[in-house]
Amino acid sequence: MKKPINNPIEGIRRLQKEYVAFRRDLHAHPEIGFELTRTKQKVIEKLIALNIEFHDHIGGGLVAVIHGDNPESRGIGLRADMDALPMQEENNFDHASTIRGRMHGCGHDGHTAMLLACGHYLQETRRFSGTAYLIFQPAEEGGGGAKAMIRDGLFERFSIDRVFALHNWPSLSLGKVAIQTGAVMAACDRIFIDIEGRGGHAAHPHLTIDPVVVAGHIITATQSIVARNQDPFDSAVISICGVEAGNMNAMNVIPRTARMIGTVRTFKPQVQEMIQKRLHEVVTSIAAAFGATATLRYITIDPATINDAAQATFAKKVAARLFGDDNIISDLKPSMGAEDFTYMLQRKPGAYLRIGQLGATSRETFLHNSEYDFNDEVIPYGAGLLAGLVEDIDHE
Ligand SMILES: [Zn+2]
Ligand SMILES: [Zn+2]
Repeated sequence: MKKPINNPIEGIRRLQKEYVAFRRDLHAHPEIGFELTRTKQKVIEKLIALNIEFHDHIGGGLVAVIHGDNPESRGIGLRADMDALPMQEENNFDHASTIRGRMHGCGHDGHTAMLLACGHYLQETRRFSGTAYLIFQPAEEGGGGAKAMIRDGLFERFSIDRVFALHNWPSLSLGKVAIQTGAVMAACDRIFIDIEGRGGHAAHPHLTIDPVVVAGHIITATQSIVARNQDPFDSAVISICGVEAGNMNAMNVIPRTARMIGTVRTFKPQVQEMIQKRLHEVVTSIAAAFGATATLRYITIDPATINDAAQATFAKKVAARLFGDDNIISDLKPSMGAEDFTYMLQRKPGAYLRIGQLGATSRETFLHNSEYDFNDEVIPYGAGLLAGLVEDIDHE
């Protein structure tokens, strides 16, 4: 067993220029979901140049393998997501998206670059025991990429016994890491509400059952679920994000139907169950009170992301060594956003870490904002932290 002799952040700084260029190239050519042909090709070119073993076509993603001493002894999985978002970028710097309606608005270009830089460093230094598995995942943004990789045998084909993932966090300063035990990202559910009334002449509403009025009452009442049914010490969000009814050219026609869509975010299964039950009651009984009918379709997408206590504690120790005690944040509020790394955490113990990306002079632009960009200064910190998790396992 060889001891880590230095701080991998310093070791990776000399690679920074190379991986900044790599990251910016991905940023300029964003790809979405499972359609990551160019992105994966770029990753593969690097892996080949570094002589790193890799396995393609694992549920649309790929896994690179780097052996340390005693490779059978343990396997650590490090996951980076590679996909961009279907949104229009509003930046005009040189590496801005060259494709209309697509943007790396969540920094997955940076995550991919950091995992590769980590692999580059580990491959050259090999100061660790066990095996590092670099998991390059497609379709994190609602596409089911983690599930697809798991279904395709991620944990059977590779002897991974713990998993970690890193997400850049725009509200956190550069050089800081947030690591907590328990819930870190929310469960994400989707709701579809269909209201059926009776259409007719807008001047004779008594002859109709107006689904627009029913929709208005349902929207207001759903907010009372969070305000009145839920324990104030638990967190939840119900957002109705789309309403569709009537024809915008027909000022005198009451439509027959109305549809709404939205999302529910929770951390605890019992809160999630309560909201699902109350939403169903509110939707059907409000419609009934107006003589209409309504149905709720409630679809659970991702469960809450829960960090394993022992692995989060281990990650904290590693981060404290690399970043300094003062830069480890243990009480950053969990996010109402969702994360499909959850499915990997359901299979193996591990933790999801959030790394600061707010520079001293930059202004905070949150994820999924059309003016967001990954901060390249994060690369040595993030890649160094991932490498540190691999090197320090012997000392946990
Ligand atoms: Zn995102
Ligand atoms: Zn993301």
